[in-house]
This record gives sequence, C-alpha cells and structure tokens, in this order.
Amino acid sequence: FDGAVVTVVGARVVGLSASAALLARGARVTLIDRYDDAATAGRAAGAAAQGAVVRLGDDATLPEGTELLVVTPGLPPSAPIVAAARAAGVPIWGDAELAWRLRAPLADGSYAPWLVVTGTNGKSTTVRMAEAMLKQAGKGVAACGNIGYPVLDAVLRGQAGGEAGEPFEVLVIELSSYQLYWSSTLSPLASAVLNIAPDHIDWHGSYADYVAAKGRAYENCQVAAVYNAADLETVRLVEEADVVEGCRAIGFTLGAPGLSMLGVVDGILADRAFIADRRTNAAELGTVYDVEPNAPHNIANALAAAALVRAYGVEPAAVRDGLREFRPEPHRIAWVATIDGVDFVDDSKATNPHAASASIGAYDHVVWLAGGLAKGADFDDLVERHAKRLRGAVLFGAERHLVAEALRRRAPEVPVVDLGGPGPEQAAEVIAEAIAAARTMAVSGDTVLLAPACASMDMFTSYGQRGDVFAEAVKAAKAEATD
Ligand code: ADP
Repeated sequence: FDGAVVTVVGARVVGLSASAALLARGARVTLIDRYDDAATAGRAAGAAAQGAVVRLGDDATLPEGTELLVVTPGLPPSAPIVAAARAAGVPIWGDAELAWRLRAPLADGSYAPWLVVTGTNGKSTTVRMAEAMLKQAGKGVAACGNIGYPVLDAVLRGQAGGEAGEPFEVLVIELSSYQLYWSSTLSPLASAVLNIAPDHIDWHGSYADYVAAKGRAYENCQVAAVYNAADLETVRLVEEADVVEGCRAIGFTLGAPGLSMLGVVDGILADRAFIADRRTNAAELGTVYDVEPNAPHNIANALAAAALVRAYGVEPAAVRDGLREFRPEPHRIAWVATIDGVDFVDDSKATNPHAASASIGAYDHVVWLAGGLAKGADFDDLVERHAKRLRGAVLFGAERHLVAEALRRRAPEVPVVDLGGPGPEQAAEVIAEAIAAARTMAVSGDTVLLAPACASMDMFTSYGQRGDVFAEAVKAAKAEATD
C-alpha cells in the first residue's frame, strides 16, 4: 500500500478504520462521504488528523488518480462512483476484502482461519452458537463481521496484540450479501450459506444478483462448504462453487443425515458416525433440547454452526457444551408475557418474509403483527403458507398495504386490522393499539407474534427499538389486566 492512492467511501465506523489502517501502511487516502453535516465532519476530522484528505458532500465523483476504491458495505453497485471506478478499471474492495488483505500471521506464522456465515436469516445466531462452541473447545475466537464488531477491526486489533488487541486463533464472521458482493479473494476455512430467500433486492438490483452474492461465500473455500439440504438455492450454489481442491460439501438437515451431513436422529444431533455406532454415541453433538429456542429453524442454525466448527477440528462434546451455554440475543422469538392465556412474543428481528415464516411456523395459532419497509419483498407465499395458522393480522407502517394486498389475494379469510403508517412520534401509540386489537382476536392458547417481515426504519430507529416498544406495551397491558 505504500504510496498507493486510495479512495475510501463512507466516513463511518468501517470507513474510518479502513482509512486509518491504510494510512498506517503508507497509502495516500482520500475519505469521502455524501453527507456534509456536523456529525460527519466530526467523524472525518479524526481521519484528517491522521493525514487523510477529506471530501464531504459528494460521493459521486472519483478523485483523480485513484488506484483503489474501498467502499462501505452499504454502497450499492448502482452508485455513480462505482460506475466511474469500473470505467477506469479501478479495483473496488469492501471491508471484508480489505480485512482479508490486511491479515497478519500469528506468532507461529500461520493465519487465523476464517469461518464465514451468511444466508438470509439466522446469521447472527449461528455466529454466536459457533463462538460458544469454540470457546468450549478452549479456542481464542473473535466473533465479528456484521454483528456490531467489523471484521476489519477484529483483524487489526488481533494483530495489535497486547492491551488493545484481542488475540484470537480463529475468526467466526457474519458477512452480509453486500460485503460478499464487494469481496473477491477471501478463502475461508469453512463457509455456511444458511438459507436464501428474497431480501435486499432493491440494493442488488435483482434476486439473481442477491443469490450470486451469497454464493461468493463458497468461493475458494478450503475445508468445508456448508449448505442447507432443504434449501435448493444453497444446494445449487455449493454445486456450482469454485472451491479449493479437497474441500468437502457438508449438508445439514432436520431429518436423518446422509453421507457428509449433519442431521437429527430421534432428537439427537448426529452425523453418520453416530448412526454407524449408536451404542457408543460416537459423535453425539447434543440434542434438540440443548438448543434454545428449539424451533426447527434454530436447530438448523445449530447444525450449521456445528458443521463449521467441526471443519476446524472441534470435538463433538464442545459442540454440545457450546449449545448449552448459548443464549439467544434479544428480539429473536423472545417470549414477553402471557395475558389471559395468550403468549406475546417479540420476533422484531424478523425483518423479511422468510424470517417471519420461520417464526409463524413455530406456533399453531397466531395473531400476526406486521408491516414496515418491505425492501422490495413479496408476501404472497408467506401468507398462503400460513393462512390456516393466522387468527388475524394487525398491520402498521409505511408499506403495510403490500402485506394487506397479499392477505387479500392469498388468505382472504384472515381478518385484518389496519392501523395506518404514522411517523416515529406515534409509534408507541400504534403498537399499544396493535396489542389491544390483537387481544380482541386471540383466544387462550394463541400467540400474538411481532414478526413484521419488514424493516423498521419508517417508524423506529431499529428492529431493537421496535421490539422494546412492543415489549413495554405488552408489559403495560399485562399490568392493567392483572390490576
Ligand atoms: P440474521 O443475522 O441473519 O439477521 P438472526 O440470527 O439475527 O439472523 O435471526 C433473525 C431472525 O430470523 C430471527 O428473529 C428469526 O425470526 C429468523 N431466523 C433465524 N434463523 C432462521 C433460519 N435458519 N431460517 C429462517 N428464519 C430464521
């Protein structure tokens, strides 16, 4: 990088780390951002102090002489600066690619292997499960990527060692389709594509492009390419992938495992060795009761995590102990309260139809709270599949009409309450109304489920805040009901 002319797009967490790391290696960095407000300027000031040229208020024009463009993962391929870089033959890297290129060897000269997790849903959960398993195996692990700890930061800190550093021997990394889109030379030890369903179509431009980006997780994979045997898209991707010679495809299934698969036999998480030698429990990885919550989609996540760490050599007992240690993060099928025999569950993290489908499918009768920003998704299959479970639907948010239309087309018998699409100021009020409406529809034994199938930013700051508002309103309703 010494003397290289690099443009970094995005004066936020990732862009600032990228800029600092490149400057430290002698690059001449221009940091640009489309915004020119005080907060952006404040963040960029640090980079300027380190020697970067800062250009705010324009992220469309490529600075003269740029030899490498490093982009924040959110930058879409349709951005004008991307077109300019492509036209000029300038390579474009995302943060994961940059992190890969900046890896430094460990004390013994080897490189910490990457275990990569991607997919439409279940990524964070699977990363945390794999992390728990690796810890049980006594490994120094950094869980990073799209889970609030950028992979670039993890790589750089790990290298720094000492106080600032968090030394590790292995990385478990959640990568989004955006990050994979901007990656080209990663060579993970093992990668899992958990599932694929439409999401982020607006960013990628088409479903095919979204799938192709996910498929990059398998490229140059060294030991194991982990796929979902029940998801034909992941099967196809693994078949088409250009992996390193000797890399094996490892499937996971909720049924009995075939050759080179992990699966479930009589509630026991198992591979073929287990089936071959049942008496000695040859490779028992735990049971479905070790997985919390033990809904089918989450057992699939556990199997994927097991496959990844097994590829790295972790023993089955550490897989089992890791699962027992693992606790789900908030807003993922989290039970909030029971009022008059009706369970209220917060799955605010279900921000697309595929995730909402997994959680609705875990219950017999559901009053469904949904709506928000659809990100170009289609709800027809979801409502048709679950029409019989839906006691009713309560809709809110900017694009709730898309959910309403799907219900009208595919599940006309399901009663719908439409609460409108107000701004953030009315969000708490609308959620309280939604809970009141849901209570009139639910009967004892039902579940009122916040699984919006949409992003939250039209009314809330994040899915987390949406879940918190819901939980508070449920608790208030509970307090009132017991008074
Ligand atoms: P991600 O990091 O991919 O967004 P999370 O682990 O945070 O995934 O889970 C997000 C939501 O997706 C959960 O709240 C749940 O509704 C759903 N989900 C989790 N795992 C799966 C899966 N394997 N298949 C389908 N939906 C899932």
